[in-house]
Amino acid sequence: MPELPEVETIKEHLRELVAGSLITDVEVLDPGLVEQPSAEEFERELEGERISGARRRAKHLIVELDSGNSLVFQLKIGGQLLLVPPVEEPKTALMLVLHLDGDRRLFLRDETRFTRARLLDAEELEARLSTLGPEPLEEEFRENGVKYLQETLSSRRAQIKPLLLDQKVVAGIGNIYVDEILYDARLHPRRKANTLSEEEWRGLHAAILENLAAGVEHRGTTVRLYKDVLNRPGEHQDYLRVFEKHGKSCPGCEGSKVVREKVGGRPTHFCPSCQLEDWREGEQ
Ligand SMILES: [Zn+2]
Repeated sequence: MPELPEVETIKEHLRELVAGSLITDVEVLDPGLVEQPSAEEFERELEGERISGARRRAKHLIVELDSGNSLVFQLKIGGQLLLVPPVEEPKTALMLVLHLDGDRRLFLRDETRFTRARLLDAEELEARLSTLGPEPLEEEFRENGVKYLQETLSSRRAQIKPLLLDQKVVAGIGNIYVDEILYDARLHPRRKANTLSEEEWRGLHAAILENLAAGVEHRGTTVRLYKDVLNRPGEHQDYLRVFEKHGKSCPGCEGSKVVREKVGGRPTHFCPSCQLEDWREGEQ
């Protein structure tokens, strides 16, 4: 599932490979893709637009257009954007084809069909993004993120994992990176936010920065469906310690096995020794 590092990787590819391209024809192959406006209007309005750039906000992929409008994708679980050529033409699970000048096409394929697209003007885009929390890799959060996390969360009695997944709290973290972040911060995913110490907030902040930056550096994590625009898997899956490693030895303590339990309704992976549920045991 594309999270911040995966969407960031796709965004960089679009900037390098398709910025400046003219959209000559648009085929919506799955009308369920288009949330706004209607599929017909979406096709009509996109045709003849020139792609001016691309950016990312949280897990939203934003294709900027010369008119000032934006084509916004939420890739959800299995969305892939593939550029043909160099990629060979995909044949299955197609939702959208953007024909570009220079005989190239940008395919959106998604086996799960959960990807959604919207064509928004500047005002609609701003409204859509207005509730999102800070971007964790931007300077403001790097410098003041410990304070921000404490101010936002330290009075909350909710479990820390679902809070970190809340896009209004921090933008871009999903189920893979959150488990790795909590592992590095040695926090049990069910820890209540109001029980964290100053030192633990610092550790959590550092773990957020480290894990997301490493994910970007490794061009994302492919556990199942994620591919970049050139149809290549990411490499960060080789660096995961706990996500889907249940039954394997924890690389930190070597004595315990990673377990998988539901937390906040999501499959969650952690080491019961390194991430104590009753954290006060560790202080005795
Ligand atoms: Zn361990």
